[in-house]
Amino acid sequence: MSLFDLTGRVAIVTGANTGIGAGIALALAQAGADIACVGRTSSADTMASIRATGRRCIEISADLSTNEPIARIISTTLEQLGRIDILINNAGIIRRADALDFSEDDWDSVIGVNLKSAFFLAQAAGRHFRAENKPGRIINIASMLSFQGGVRVASYTASKSGLAGITKLLANEWAKFGINVNAIAPGYFTTNNTAALRADPDRNRDILGRIPAGRWGLPEDLGGAAVFLASDAAAYVHGAIIPVDGGWQAR
Ligand code: NAP
Repeated sequence: MSLFDLTGRVAIVTGANTGIGAGIALALAQAGADIACVGRTSSADTMASIRATGRRCIEISADLSTNEPIARIISTTLEQLGRIDILINNAGIIRRADALDFSEDDWDSVIGVNLKSAFFLAQAAGRHFRAENKPGRIINIASMLSFQGGVRVASYTASKSGLAGITKLLANEWAKFGINVNAIAPGYFTTNNTAALRADPDRNRDILGRIPAGRWGLPEDLGGAAVFLASDAAAYVHGAIIPVDGGWQAR
């Protein structure tokens, strides 16, 4: 399975302490990558799981609500793990309110983490890959709301639709350099992000009823897509937004 082997590669994963980021970090480590776990909350549990696979990992404390930590994320990873091959832009937040009531703060905070920091971290990784004249992989975590409108999540929909657009723009600019920029669009997964939906019996029933697989996704359900996009198997995949959604979009 050498096409999918990530041995010797280094991945930066934002929001690695929990949920989808933790699942992807572990999957990349199981495929052989060393991991820089980035986030504002300790990734101790994720780090223990990664170390159990025999891979190296480091923790970089960073609040991605501003661009301030971005240069430090790149430099610390290079200093401590020696190289960068893969960036997973996973950190994200959601705010829920009717569009009529939606606040400027709920707009700015979500766009800041989900879209602005993801773009500028991709830019920093892209600059590194170009400076070293080496290939690289950038995987953005998009959403069903990269394709659909959703309800009561105006800034989230804007951020994830924007992230899909940025994924395609960066692919257009960087594919010729051997830098693959793609996205994974998770369906509905059991993480902190969806706790409010799962706690609402009506929304939970409606969502579950539309998932052909008949269950909410688990973070480990995304590992295969992440390993694929990070690996040599995806060398000719550029600008794709790959749904991993239990069939949600087919319905
Ligand atoms: P989650 O459990 O809430 O995880 C979000 C992650 O982002 C956490 O690690 C969180 O850290 C981190 N984060 C948030 N704000 C940050 C900031 N300012 N600086 C640094 N890190 C920050 O939810 P999740 O579902 O795993 O979300 C991961 C990604 O998947 C998000 O981009 C989300 O939009 C996307 N997604 C999720 C679903 C789903 O169904 N769950 C579906 C589609 C897309 P803290 O723990 O410190 O808050």
